[in-house]
Amino acid sequence: MAIETSRGKVIVLCHWDGCIKYGPDGVYYEGSTSEYFRVKQKTELNRLLDGLYKRFGLDKEKSKFVIWGKFPVLVQQSKLKYLLLPVVDDSSFAAMLDIPSNHPSITNVELFLEFKTTSDDVLDPNSCPNPSKRQRTDPNPSSEGCLKKALTFSSGVVSKPCLSSSLWLDDDHDMRFKDIDELKKAVDWYSMRARRKCVARETEKKDTYRFECVRTRCNWSLHAARVEGGQYGLVEITKYNATHTCSPVKSDFVADEIEGLVRLNPTLSVQELKKWWKEKLGYELQASAIREGKLEVIKRVYGDEEQSLRALPKLISVLQSSNEMVMDWRYEVFPNPNFASFSSLFWTFSQSVKGFQHCRPLVVVDTRDLYGNDDVSPRCSQFKLMIASGFDAANRYFPLAFAVTREVSVETWRWFLSRIREEVTQREGLCLISSPDKDIVTVVNEPGSQWKEHRFCLKGVCSQFCDVFGDELVRLVKKAGYSSQEREFDFYMNDMKEKRPEAWKWLNKIHPHQWALAHDNGGFRYGVMEIDTKALYAVFRDFRVAMSGVLVLMFDELREAFDESFTCSGESLNRGDVYTKPVMEKLEEFLRDYDAAAYVITPLEGDAFEVSRNKKWIVKLNESICTCGKFQGDKFPCVHALALCEKLRINPLKYVDECYTLERYHKTYSAGFSPVPEVSAWPEASGVPTLLTPKVEGKI
Ligand SMILES: [Zn+2]
Ligand SMILES: [Zn+2]
Repeated sequence: MAIETSRGKVIVLCHWDGCIKYGPDGVYYEGSTSEYFRVKQKTELNRLLDGLYKRFGLDKEKSKFVIWGKFPVLVQQSKLKYLLLPVVDDSSFAAMLDIPSNHPSITNVELFLEFKTTSDDVLDPNSCPNPSKRQRTDPNPSSEGCLKKALTFSSGVVSKPCLSSSLWLDDDHDMRFKDIDELKKAVDWYSMRARRKCVARETEKKDTYRFECVRTRCNWSLHAARVEGGQYGLVEITKYNATHTCSPVKSDFVADEIEGLVRLNPTLSVQELKKWWKEKLGYELQASAIREGKLEVIKRVYGDEEQSLRALPKLISVLQSSNEMVMDWRYEVFPNPNFASFSSLFWTFSQSVKGFQHCRPLVVVDTRDLYGNDDVSPRCSQFKLMIASGFDAANRYFPLAFAVTREVSVETWRWFLSRIREEVTQREGLCLISSPDKDIVTVVNEPGSQWKEHRFCLKGVCSQFCDVFGDELVRLVKKAGYSSQEREFDFYMNDMKEKRPEAWKWLNKIHPHQWALAHDNGGFRYGVMEIDTKALYAVFRDFRVAMSGVLVLMFDELREAFDESFTCSGESLNRGDVYTKPVMEKLEEFLRDYDAAAYVITPLEGDAFEVSRNKKWIVKLNESICTCGKFQGDKFPCVHALALCEKLRINPLKYVDECYTLERYHKTYSAGFSPVPEVSAWPEASGVPTLLTPKVEGKI
């Protein structure tokens, strides 16, 4: 169903009469009835509730909606998982309404409605409102669009103990649940509302359950058992002490608990904190909750940028001594040499430097606001973040070096790029991919610049094109850029020339080898046409903390990424795998989708072969090239090379570039990170003046 989205409005998809399930992607709703609402992005929860009461013809005094949101969280680069977010107030509702702007792949907001009566009145289930009669366009006219089930169960139509289909835990203990999972959900929801943490404890008897408040000496407890002889695993509450003798937890409960520990050692990893939590508090806490708590504590520890800058020299010196961090400062010393105004900081870890030796000779650079894109960030930093990254054997970004700087200019790019060449990349023949930014172009073209090739991110070229000519013909630029054969490229360029000669002229001013795949002679790009900024900045997530905090948190992310990649590549090596997964998957896909026998192979002069089906291609295996352009571009065999290998009975893996081997992958991440000592043991940063943010210069 096509949905028309208008500016500032959000499509809210409400489901009811179904159940909440958990799948590999997190929560989803099954067997529900759905309906769309369109609301402004800044809508108060009460307005939605008013709309819902009206929509279902229900009485506010006698009934209550319980609303859950399907809330996305990023688990890996660009992979989302959905959690259940209780929508209880304006801020949780606002978080839901912000989803489409934060995640462009999600076009609407999904809510799950549960319903509960608050009076003893017996409602007649037959009088249940039917939305299809009220709404002109019912998206699902065949289903019984009403809250009948919820009304029936919670209105006393069935005799007590009543089956709670609304998963609501009342003080009244005569309640039954469909199964233990439903009861757990009811307890979880109750915990959140009561701002407590109530968890399941082990029991000795089979089919009996016990929940307790985690706070020691609190009296709250709930006992339940499976109904004897009952069908479908019905669970009944047998004993319920509904009074807490503890005080409610604050919303940043996790942060409060771990604050002392994190202050002592801010670089403790999420995994270490998770372990500590289990030992100290006796139950598991999700990594995401720990991560959030740690972020909160880091904000408290490093405060604003002024405070964070003062803490920076010591933090850097401990990372230098414990983890061989390499850095370069730039600051302007005041007449009183004990003070200086901060300009820039460059840093890289020796682990990245060592790892890059095993990566392909390709480096990507980019810059953004320290807190992410200016247009989505409500609070801008006065600093910019610069990043340089390589690619590992699995085609993923391999973070190399970073800089935080007051401004990005020709001068800063010259400094950043030369630091990378001197501190990080020890070899010749490197290709740089960046946006076609004029400052970067200037620096790379300067005499003595040590980059062998410079390629542009196609997205950057397209966006510059749009700035000049609008977005009407930009698809031709994209198609020309992605074409792997010259004649295809020429076709789109000619089309452009006919449609808009001045746009064609503009494009011709950029060397085609810098932006078009078909002209990437030598295959310096390894098929990489665009910079995926989300994946590129993954180690920075969305921290929005002052600079020292950013450094601490990214250190943990980087360490975690190294550990994970090292472990899983080790496992694959032990299994006997030779190449990384993305390459193997690509080859498997070729084998599955293409019938090698359908190609006709004709030997030509030298070691060239003609491979033909409807069209003709020429493959030279020893040079790893094919006229389709993909073999030399991706640096592993294209379909035509595979067909030829099949015919000649040659193993095509022979022609997969070294840079895709698991061994390289494993070596890339083999330099592990070391633990960082506690704050009390951090060395003094000698010779560094007290750093001030640029804006307070006037104070000195
Ligand atoms: Zn309690
Ligand atoms: Zn080919």
